[in-house]
Amino acid sequence: MRKIFFLASITFIVSVLFFYYNSPTDPTENSITDNKTHEDTIVIKPPTIDEIIKNGIPNDNTERKEGVIFETADYSVIQGVINPGEAISHILGKYNVSNTDIYKLEKAAKNIFDLRNIQSGKPYTVFCSKDSNSIAQCFVYQKSKTQYVVFDFRDSISVSEGEKEVITKTNIVMGTISQGGGLWYSISKQLGEEKAPPLVDVLANNIYGWSIDFFQIQPKDSFIVFFEEKYVENEYVGIGKVFAASFTHKGKTTNAFRFKENEKYADYFDENGNNLRSAFLKSPIDFARVSSGFGNRKHPISGKWKKHNGVDYAARTGTPIMTTASGTVTYASRKGGYGNCVIVKHNEKYTTLYAHLSKFKSGVQKGSYVKQGDIIGYVGSTGYSTGPHLHYEFMLYGKHVDPYKQALPPSLPLKKENTEEFNKVRDEYTKILQNFVK
Ligand SMILES: [Zn+2]
Repeated sequence: MRKIFFLASITFIVSVLFFYYNSPTDPTENSITDNKTHEDTIVIKPPTIDEIIKNGIPNDNTERKEGVIFETADYSVIQGVINPGEAISHILGKYNVSNTDIYKLEKAAKNIFDLRNIQSGKPYTVFCSKDSNSIAQCFVYQKSKTQYVVFDFRDSISVSEGEKEVITKTNIVMGTISQGGGLWYSISKQLGEEKAPPLVDVLANNIYGWSIDFFQIQPKDSFIVFFEEKYVENEYVGIGKVFAASFTHKGKTTNAFRFKENEKYADYFDENGNNLRSAFLKSPIDFARVSSGFGNRKHPISGKWKKHNGVDYAARTGTPIMTTASGTVTYASRKGGYGNCVIVKHNEKYTTLYAHLSKFKSGVQKGSYVKQGDIIGYVGSTGYSTGPHLHYEFMLYGKHVDPYKQALPPSLPLKKENTEEFNKVRDEYTKILQNFVK
């Protein structure tokens, strides 16, 4: 009788324990008992080599041997930079890859990546086994911030290319030009020096190249730009699309909204659907190129309409000069005080002249056709000139006029069938810009 009672109690205790440990628990419930029963079952698996190649190296802040930036029980990860004159075979040799395997690799890389194209200064990652041989399992060469090449020794030797995921984030920058600081300075003060140049380039060349002469930007001019930044593994890699901008120059505001009228490219239109492109570029010199060369504090010397019938642009000798509109070259030779001079006839009405060139662009001669933005020559100081600069003249029926005061031929407006869609885009961007200003 006692024995039976004893067995019964054991059975009871066992079943109670059984039910206790197996009772279903709500995983969202965080009661103390639940934590106790589950605390040993959580295992974080280390990432595989392929996961690291794709997603980057986990940052776990553990101190390790020199060069090793991450390791698991199976492999260690080493990062380095290609030294000048260093070949892939040198690096792989250091990580115990045999000459036979390197030879096989060269064959496998054919048609995918030319090993001779490896560039010094580019980063690489090596995954080494943790056994006593410590042989490279994988070698990853970082071709650019987004593209990489994987040399894989794990099974059969293979070479493949990959691309990292680019994440875009939107950003808005606004500012007012201050005395002694140009547009470049104003933007780089807010975004940093790395991000400013590509944004200035898009503003000066793609958006406002036809409506604002950036060489004439002055204090109190102001701007606001809504754009996209690209990131790879939280590292900034460049700017993406510029969606909208508003620039106030000498009291006049020019709004720009990005809109795609066709599959191939996007254009910028003002709030009324006028294309911001026009028959004439505002300036024959690329402002973005010149201004960044001047450093971030100085404002490039501005082009001003002078009594001597032209506009002068100070720029270093050799700075490319663009024709402001398409047309036929009617003169490309020496011309007295003008020095080396190019004259372009655009139509019966308009002619432009470019003087003091150090040299002509090869192929530019009397009779050749040039398209808007084409380089026709380079800044110099030939003829009557006290220093390297471009003297630019604008003529209407052969008479000198101030190009900035011309009502130039309007550009093609938005297609009628796109009006509704454009208005939607414009209103959305306007709201974003206005909310930011508030
Ligand atoms: Zn001049």
